[in-house]
Amino acid sequence: SSPSMLKPIQIKLVLLGEAAVGKSSLVLRFVNNDYQENKEPTIGAAFLTQKCKVQDKIIKFEIWDTAGQERFHSLAPMYYRNAQAAIVVYDITNSDSFDRAKSWVKELQRQATNEIVVALAGNKCDLHDSRQVESEVASSYSSEKGLLFLETSAKENENVNHLFKEIAKKLPLES
Ligand code: GDP
Repeated sequence: SSPSMLKPIQIKLVLLGEAAVGKSSLVLRFVNNDYQENKEPTIGAAFLTQKCKVQDKIIKFEIWDTAGQERFHSLAPMYYRNAQAAIVVYDITNSDSFDRAKSWVKELQRQATNEIVVALAGNKCDLHDSRQVESEVASSYSSEKGLLFLETSAKENENVNHLFKEIAKKLPLES
């Protein structure tokens, strides 16, 4: 049967990372292929869906943005509990945001379900002149922890679709 006849497989995906690293911008780029300079911070619930075709399967991502709660450093575990996928985002021009990303990874690997697919995204890679986090450092950290790793730019639309596709490919989906 054609893929369009298949029922989409729903996947809960959460975004984690320090404020202002570009989480909402990555979602906006993936879902609407849009970008807003000086975006207002997300307040309140943010829940969007987007479909993605992988091989002969249709994945429907239910994307949960932190809705600015990370500003208070208290993100309830219920936010990422039951998530099948997570994107931990840092800003390549901000090494503190990379440290924060590493602590999110630690928390996810301790608390979330075993099967969760975790991707690390080094966002704002268009700002390479102000880079503080070397690709090699993030890349070797990611292989050590078993994470997908990509540098992305929501602004320049670099690696954004690719990131979600790679996550979809790693999901344990039964046929
Ligand atoms: P969030 O708080 O993590 O959701 O971050 P936002 O998506 O609100 O983005 C914070 C700021 O960074 C906004 O002014 C965005 O326009 C900007 N931004 C987001 N992604 C990129 C990117 O890929 N490149 C650049 N240069 N700026 C970005």
